[in-house]
Amino acid sequence: MLDKLQALLKTSVNFPSPPAIAQQIIALAEDPDSDIVRIATTISKDPGLTAKVLRVANSPLYSKRRRSSNLRQALVVLGLNAATTLALGFSLVGKYRSVKGKGIDYTRFWRKSILSASAARAFAEQQGVGDVEGVYLGALLQDIGMLATDRVLPDFYASLPREHTHVQLCAYERERLGIDHAALGGWLLEQWRLPESVCRSVAWSHGPPASAHGTPDGIAAGCIALGGECVEMLLDQSLGNLEAIAQHAEEWLGLDGDRLTIAITRIVNEIPETERLYETALMPAELAVAVLDQARELLLIRNLQAIEQVTTLRAATEDLEARAVALEDMHRRDPLTGLYNRGHLDRVLAEEFEASTHGGWPLSVVFIDLDRFKQVNDTYGHPAGDEVLIGTAQRIRSVARSSDCVARYGGEEFVVVLPGLHGSDAEAVCRRLLVRLRNTRYELRDATLTVTASIGLATHDDQHPFDSVAELVDAADRAVYAAKKSGRDRIVNFATRGTGSAGVGGVAAVDVAADASAPPRQASI
Ligand code: GH3
Ligand code: MG
Ligand code: MG
Repeated sequence: MLDKLQALLKTSVNFPSPPAIAQQIIALAEDPDSDIVRIATTISKDPGLTAKVLRVANSPLYSKRRRSSNLRQALVVLGLNAATTLALGFSLVGKYRSVKGKGIDYTRFWRKSILSASAARAFAEQQGVGDVEGVYLGALLQDIGMLATDRVLPDFYASLPREHTHVQLCAYERERLGIDHAALGGWLLEQWRLPESVCRSVAWSHGPPASAHGTPDGIAAGCIALGGECVEMLLDQSLGNLEAIAQHAEEWLGLDGDRLTIAITRIVNEIPETERLYETALMPAELAVAVLDQARELLLIRNLQAIEQVTTLRAATEDLEARAVALEDMHRRDPLTGLYNRGHLDRVLAEEFEASTHGGWPLSVVFIDLDRFKQVNDTYGHPAGDEVLIGTAQRIRSVARSSDCVARYGGEEFVVVLPGLHGSDAEAVCRRLLVRLRNTRYELRDATLTVTASIGLATHDDQHPFDSVAELVDAADRAVYAAKKSGRDRIVNFATRGTGSAGVGGVAAVDVAADASAPPRQASI
């Protein structure tokens, strides 16, 4: 069927070939040597066309400056390319407007073509398209395939239901002809040797293929397709398609609702001038303005909804992120005390050891082991023991900075990592902790309980560097052992060499007297 249709179009007398003047203009447009004199001479052969080009040049749509009183000036104002393209459009429209068939509504056909061209130009200018007139011409001729089909197959559109959308029309054409009027129009313009970009934009005048989005041809076709959809909306005075239009605006041209509203406003405002140019009534201004007002309102609401959706989405994402952070944090925590767990501690220790070795600052590690804690459980029960563990965790946190890593090493053993603290400063922290733990009273149902701790301290620094983090931790552990051995409720600094030692080489003890107010005193083990 397609072959037959194309053969018919090439030979049919019912669908005349372009006027001679249009053919000359096409030849001029193709010729790189064509100049203003030759173009002016060609156009001036047709007085009707000359008058139109002059009118365009003097129309506020094109020139806000000087009036052109002759064709030559008009060509200068418009620019040669724009002028040839426009002249071509006028000459083709002039010829084919007189062509009549019986299957389509010709009044509406030309209203749509002319208004779409003006709409496409509005979008093209908004998009900064280089060849605005090429887009204008493509839009003007976008439905030429329908006109051609109606001329050579007079009954074709007769069986189409009277009420139909443009989409249904295309489906009808494809089903019966194997091609829709956009593709057919593109092919036809190729036969007429129109510029390739114009042929392509007509072929894509129902929307550029996804692969062409963002390319110059895709944008040109997008301007035409969107212009066509906006004009159908205005002519039908129906906003049923507005959502699809808004989506296409976004998809094809990256236009948001605000910029789409601006373009539609411009399209409506330009209708009177376009009517003057083509000397024809296109649509009553008040109807166009009424549709515009409704469209503007709906697009505004749509915009607000979009903003709301983005806000909700952002809130949901933030919530999700917060939950992910909380979940991750949970994996690093000990459920009873809320302190970091052993796994996290090991990672922090490894990182801090590395950092302090390279950075040249000290790293102190404090080991805390509650004294005779088993007895607490045995005497007061496991829940009381848990309460002591929780209370101890709180006290340790209260003496450390929030950035220090405080961890439950296991059972009733805790570790504090103090990056940047020299042994003497770490010792001061330990002393405060020892006193604070000793002074904490746990009020049980029928008893008051205090629990002391033995604290071991080791510092990795220039004077006493350790070979590995394991050795540093082991030193702190050994210091705790020494503290236990020498009587508990005290601090042993691994580095501070004392006099005698009770099985822990090089460990001296700092003993804090049972009386909290008394100053801590050095003790040896
Ligand atoms: P020392 O002064 O020598 O450190 O004596 P200790 O009793 O504190 O030492 P030991 O290591 O013998 O006992 C530790 C006790 O800690 C044994 C265990 O019942 C208790 N424990 C470990 N984890 C928990 C816990 O999560 N909750 C409670 N309530 N007790 C725990
Ligand atoms: Mg223990
Ligand atoms: Mg213990």
